[in-house]
Parts: sequence; C-alpha cells; structure tokens
Amino acid sequence: TTVVWWVRRDLRLHDNQALAAALTRARELVPLFVLDPALLAGPTSSQRRNAFLFAALRSLDAALRRRGSRLIVRAGRPEQVLPTVVRESGATLVMAEADGSPYARRRDEAVARSVPLQLVEGSTLRPLGSIRAPTGEPYRVYSQFRRAWFRLPIPSPQDILPAPPRLPPVPRLASEPIPESPLAVPERFAPSEDAARQRLQHFLAQGLASYHLRRNALDGSGSSQLSPYFRFGLLSVREAWCAAARYLDEPDAAAGARAWLDELLWREFYQHLLAAWPESARMSMQPEFRDVAWPGSNDALARWQEGRTGFPVVDAAMRQLVSEGWMSNRARMIVASFLSKLLLVDWREGERFFRRELVDGDLAANVGGWQWSAGTGTDAAPYFRIFNPVLQGEQHDPNGSWVRTWLPELANVPREYLFAPWRMPIEVQLRAGCRIGHDYPAPIVEYESARARALEWFRSVRQAQ
Ligand code: FAD
Repeated sequence: TTVVWWVRRDLRLHDNQALAAALTRARELVPLFVLDPALLAGPTSSQRRNAFLFAALRSLDAALRRRGSRLIVRAGRPEQVLPTVVRESGATLVMAEADGSPYARRRDEAVARSVPLQLVEGSTLRPLGSIRAPTGEPYRVYSQFRRAWFRLPIPSPQDILPAPPRLPPVPRLASEPIPESPLAVPERFAPSEDAARQRLQHFLAQGLASYHLRRNALDGSGSSQLSPYFRFGLLSVREAWCAAARYLDEPDAAAGARAWLDELLWREFYQHLLAAWPESARMSMQPEFRDVAWPGSNDALARWQEGRTGFPVVDAAMRQLVSEGWMSNRARMIVASFLSKLLLVDWREGERFFRRELVDGDLAANVGGWQWSAGTGTDAAPYFRIFNPVLQGEQHDPNGSWVRTWLPELANVPREYLFAPWRMPIEVQLRAGCRIGHDYPAPIVEYESARARALEWFRSVRQAQ
C-alpha cells in the first residue's frame, strides 16, 4: 500500500503519531508538504514565519533522506494538490496530524471530499474537544479546564514514539524546490528538529528548576524559548510534557517543573478554546465588547508598532519583536495591556500585528493572550489590572540591560531614570546624550491619566450592556 503522510504543523520524526500511523500501513510512503498560497501569502501570513518554515522543511527533508526517504513539495491549494498526488502515486490513504484552527478545519473538510483523509492526534496533549464539563460544554475558565484535564490519565513516557530509523521508499514523483525566503531566519531559533530537542534538553538541565522564579525576566532568559518549535511541531508537546514531568519527584526542581507544565496546559487550553469557539479569533468573547468602537487612534497604533511610545519597556519589547520575531511572555503582557488599555486600541489590531511578526505566531495562543490582556476573554485579566510599564521594568529588568540592548539611544541614561526617562532633568539628558522629544520620544500618554481614562471607558462599556 502507498500512504501519503501529509506534513502540516508536525515537522518532526520523533513522537509523530500521524507518521507512526501511516507507517503501520505503508509499503511506500509519500511525505508531502503543500505550499498553500492561502497560508503563505494570505492576510495572516508572515514572511518571518515563512523563513523559519522553509528552513525547517529543508532540515526535515535532510532527515528523511538520511532514512531512505525524501520530502515531496507541491505548490497549490490542498484540495487540488492532494487528489493529484494520490492519483500519481497510487496512494490509498492520506494521513495527517489534526489541526483545530478554523482555516485548517475548512481545508481538511474540503480535501476529505475527494481523497481518503485520516486525521491523527498529536498537536495537543489531549484530543481537541475531549475536555468537557458534565453538561457537554467546553470549559471557558482555565482552572476548571485544568482540573478536568488532570482527572484523565496523563501522558506517560511509554506513549512516546521513537523516530523511525528507516523509512519506506518514496514512489517516483516530481517535487518542487522549497522556496528561498527573502528574510533570514532569526538567529535565536535554529530551524531543525535536532535544535529543538537540544534546546529542550538544555532547558531541562539548566532552566527548569528555576523557571518559577525566573520566567518573568524580560529578556526571556528564564523560559525555554521553545515556542516556535511547538508552533511548527518540531517538538512533540507530549514528549516535552513527559520529559519535564520526570522532575516533579526531584525536590529542587519540582516547583519549576510544575510551573512549566502549567504553561503547556495554557497552550492546551487556548487550543481547545479556539477549536470550540472559532469565532473568538475575530470577536471578543465577552459580548459587551463585540460592537464597541475602541477610541484609540491610528497614530497611537503606529507609534506602538514602531516602538516609539516613549515608555522604554514597551519600546524595547516592540523593537525586539520586529527585529527577532519573539519576545518574552511578560513583555507580551505588558505591550498588550499598554495598547488595549492605556491606548484603548482594539485588541484585534495588536493581535494582527503580533501574528505578522512572531515566529511562534499562532492563532489560538495569540488570540487567547490578547483577549486575556485586553480583558475581553472568557477567563481574562480584570479590566482594572493595567500593567505599569515603569514598575514592570524595575521588577523584571532590574539592571536595565535588556532595555539598553534594544534602545541604544538610552545607553548612557542613568539607571534610576531608565524606565521613566522623561523624569531626567535637562542637564542629565544632555550629559546622557539623550534629549527627550529629540533623541528619544516623549511619552505618548501620561500614565495616571491614561489609566483613569481606561478605567472609565471599560466601566462604561460594561454598564451599557
Ligand atoms: P515557556 O514559558 O518556556 O513555556 C513553554 C511553552 O508553553 C511555550 O513555548 C508555549 O508553547 C506554551 N505557553 C507558554 N505560555 C503560554 C501562554 N500564556 N499561552 C499559550 N501557550 C503558552 N504563544 C505562542 O506560542 N504564540 C503566540 O502567537 C502567542 N501570542 C501571545 C500574545 C500575547 C498578548 C500573550 C500575552 C501571550 C502570547 N503567547 C503566544 C504565549 C506566550 O507568551 C509564549 O508562548 C511564550 O512567551 C513563549 O516563550 P517560551 O517558549 O520561552 O515559553
């Protein structure tokens, strides 16, 4: 039998349930990647993610070749490409990892109309739709989701599938070249399964035990930096779960391991939430925010995007985002709170910009993070929780090195003024070579009054309901 293994967001050979399922049937295997114009050039596409994806496809192809196989690449709409490849190869079955995002579900339904498509779990720890309240409803609140999740058997190391040492032959088929990207892959993320696995090992050995203490560091040094690998499935979340869960029995590492596993569950929660409520990608989960016009201006949005708000923590984060395609979770929460609350710009503008720029940009996590930050989600930060960017900097970048890395114009600003440089007396500005309003922007808002305006607006929207 010939089976097509349709690779989508599971660019790995280790613990790949779709691949393993295909191998139980296949005498010939067609590892196929479809260059889908709707994803690569559509409104939600990202040059930066494409760069990472293309490089990761090259390394997947190399890993396949080492095992006697190769990647077949075809460009076009999947509902046209799949029937063609099935016909040319004589395949009787197509197997792929399930993907719960709204586009993927529409795509897979369209493909399944013309080829025998079998979807296999693997992008989440538990099948999407499997965690439900006794009423049958999916959970909207994280703590309830988490409790229900732990009532079911948790993934076990025995479930983890090794990478197959050899793969069946590929039938004679034409393949297109993997495109070259005009953008370089961000240096922070080497795009291969091996790099993902090494980073996991490094984090388990060096970072996990102190994760609960260091995860909020604004430079990201306290977290795993694995998100792009999970995003494209270069690393199995089930395997990562089991690897970290081993540390729960070690007194020195248990608190860190618990905190990290919780983050994997937040990922899980948002994936399940988006699968249950695809409309949350486009509209606020809380009904009172659905038809409101957010008062923030386009100019405010532009200054936020360009990292010119005059608040160093916000600007450093936005410049890191545009330069590296990544920022820490703490930085994401601060800039999202800043845009949606202090500037009162519609969270969907921020979500769209993040999705264009992030290497790990993922609809479920991003919409979840934005709705949480803006206070419009089902289980969100309360509207009156507004991050103070000055205090956040003091706490989470205490020696200021992260801010200085991204804002060289503040290089000589004394530490005491670093997070609020507008407070510098003029002679200090001159000495530091940083005149406010000239070398670095004056603050776009005054924090206390912007906060008062936000509280009033949020209250009025809630009362109008
Ligand atoms: P770690 O702290 O090491 O966590 C391990 C993994 O758990 C991460 O790689 C990620 O897969 C998952 N994870 C951790 N925190 C969260 C979370 N809050 N929600 C969902 N998954 C989580 N994450 C994305 O992967 N893609 C996005 O597009 C995205 N957009 C976000 C937007 C906003 C406004 C906010 C507040 C958060 C967003 N996140 C997103 C979640 C989180 O910020 C990143 O996953 C995390 O910063 C990645 O760094 P890490 O790999 O070092 O995480």
